[in-house]
Amino acid sequence: MKGNIHVTSENIFPVIKKFLYSDHEIFLRELISNAVDATQKLKTLASVGDAKGDLGDLRVRVTIDKSKKTLTVSDHGVGMTSDEVDRYINQIAFSGAEEFVNKYKDKAEAIIGHFGLGFYSAFMVADKVEIFSLSYLPDAKAVHWSCSGETEFAMEDTVKAERGTDIVLHINDEFSQYLEDATVESLLKKYCKFLPVEIAFGMKKEWKDGKQVETGEENIINNVNPAWTRKPADLTEEDYKTFYHELYPTQMDEPLFHIHLNVDYPFHLTGILYFPRIKNNLDIHRNKIQLYCNQVFVTDEVENIVPEYLTLLHGVIDSPDIPLNVSRSYLQSDNNVKKISSHITKKVADKLADMYKNDREDFEHKWDDIKLFIQFGMLSDEKFYERAIGFALLKNLEGKYATLDDYRTQVKEAQTDKDGNLVLLYTQDADANYTYIERAREKGYDVLLMDGELDVHFMSMLEQKNEHLRFVRVDSDLIENLIRKEDKKDEPTLSTEQQEGLRKAVQNVLNDPNYYIEFQAAAADALPMFLTQNEFMRRMKEMSRHQQGMSFYGNMPDQYTLVVNTAHPLIQDLVAKMTSEEVEEVVEKKEPNTSGEPSTSGTSEPRETVTKTVYSLAGEDERLHQLLDIALLASGRLKGESLARFVNRSVSLL
Ligand code: ADP
Repeated sequence: MKGNIHVTSENIFPVIKKFLYSDHEIFLRELISNAVDATQKLKTLASVGDAKGDLGDLRVRVTIDKSKKTLTVSDHGVGMTSDEVDRYINQIAFSGAEEFVNKYKDKAEAIIGHFGLGFYSAFMVADKVEIFSLSYLPDAKAVHWSCSGETEFAMEDTVKAERGTDIVLHINDEFSQYLEDATVESLLKKYCKFLPVEIAFGMKKEWKDGKQVETGEENIINNVNPAWTRKPADLTEEDYKTFYHELYPTQMDEPLFHIHLNVDYPFHLTGILYFPRIKNNLDIHRNKIQLYCNQVFVTDEVENIVPEYLTLLHGVIDSPDIPLNVSRSYLQSDNNVKKISSHITKKVADKLADMYKNDREDFEHKWDDIKLFIQFGMLSDEKFYERAIGFALLKNLEGKYATLDDYRTQVKEAQTDKDGNLVLLYTQDADANYTYIERAREKGYDVLLMDGELDVHFMSMLEQKNEHLRFVRVDSDLIENLIRKEDKKDEPTLSTEQQEGLRKAVQNVLNDPNYYIEFQAAAADALPMFLTQNEFMRRMKEMSRHQQGMSFYGNMPDQYTLVVNTAHPLIQDLVAKMTSEEVEEVVEKKEPNTSGEPSTSGTSEPRETVTKTVYSLAGEDERLHQLLDIALLASGRLKGESLARFVNRSVSLL
């Protein structure tokens, strides 16, 4: 028989060719899915008594014949009669799987769903495709079909000893890589690693006398019972770990813990999600989740299926309810995908809440490794925030953990300022901030360690969500100013003129425009000069690293405030050494306009000469240098040549 392939709407071949340059390797997945489907169908038929006798060997085999340039996929499934080939293959708009699923609805979960192109994807890589098939039906005649990529096919009776189907692809010269063992094996490993029917490719090899030799055993690609398809009750911790390494053979780290997903209604979803250790660097952990559809690998790009922060997790999601042939952007608006995504979010939050509730100590132990994940989730998903705020932890410098609520209660008394704001002190580097931390402790304050990649964002979010809550880094101002207990008594110990004189002298020695000089009467036992760094500016700069549109802050140089402690005896001594002189200066007239009419220039003189006192500090360069270096040193900013000069100067001063 000869005929034309009937396509309902348009010719399928241009569509196939369109795929040609992108995902052509999926042909193998499609053909093997069909072979597995046919095998599962046969098992289903046998289980309800519709197929009689011993089913025999059910392995699917992939073989390559280099001389004939063919790749063959063989199964021992239901097979097809010539009528069926006509219906399912020739009339390609007609889906056999759909018809079968309708007939065996409740038994049909095992049938691999629709991938779209299906059988015809073979033409992406083959010039000619042949089908040899013998149906399981009693007295069936074997059929041979062939087609060379036009809409014309040939079909005839043939002889075939075994039940099932062979699909023979005559590989196009351009795609000769699909005749290479290594290429085909790696594709099989990618797509078929967990298919429910054994897939054999060649023979197992072993090392003998320094050479690889074939054994008599077939090389089976897949694990037909991957952990996620089994009942959690049947699995041990060890099984979950073994499966983790089966998924990621090159991954050395052990996962922290896992979640086994299993939903039947209103959608089907199974899977196992693993929590990896994430200390820093969000990116290297992404895109490890593998998406399967009835155990067939579909993709490891799940970013439109689960919320972004969940892409940090590892593991497997298997669902026949995720539409596979739609654009990625469409996926997000799909109702099933939305339900699946919120289900996973809920499961993840529940698991973490359970762990926190049931074994607080263990949870704290794991906190540093899951903190980044949880903060990412809270920052990007309001729902997750609401669940996680009950178990998200803050850690102080003593290594003690507390939820925000608990921590507030702990420090409320000491750290509430005169306006009723609760001020939480933190450091990002306990060594660098040592002197500041000591001063905070002397005051009875607690200091948090916020050295994580997302901590700055996290603190800003907590401030937004909690009125009267502020985070300030211990070195962002005088400790007295960080948590202000009473209104500042602004009693200047230096006159404006004295300050100007000292400022000039300091600027001269410092010679760096990124330091802003400020005069403040700190405690007499505080350093004579020290650095602070404005919380707002510093935080904006840090946040800009993760956020687009904020490069304005990112490009700004680091700016510091150099506080001159006017209460310190050394500073007071410097001031006492300053000399003053009266200087005459011509300035703009500040005369009040008594006439009530605009003064017209030219008619009156707008300038006048005044006498000013100007202070200056001479011959104290060494001491200023020393004081400035001590300020830099105390905040870990004295390095290299400056540090060496400081050391030498210190020795000579002694
Ligand atoms: P789909 O699998 O999405 O229905 P295909 O084009 O891949 O679309 O296959 C069409 C139909 O051809 C299948 O539904 C099935 O009935 C039949 N078929 C394909 N391959 C085989 C096979 N190896 N054994 C038995 N039937 C097959």
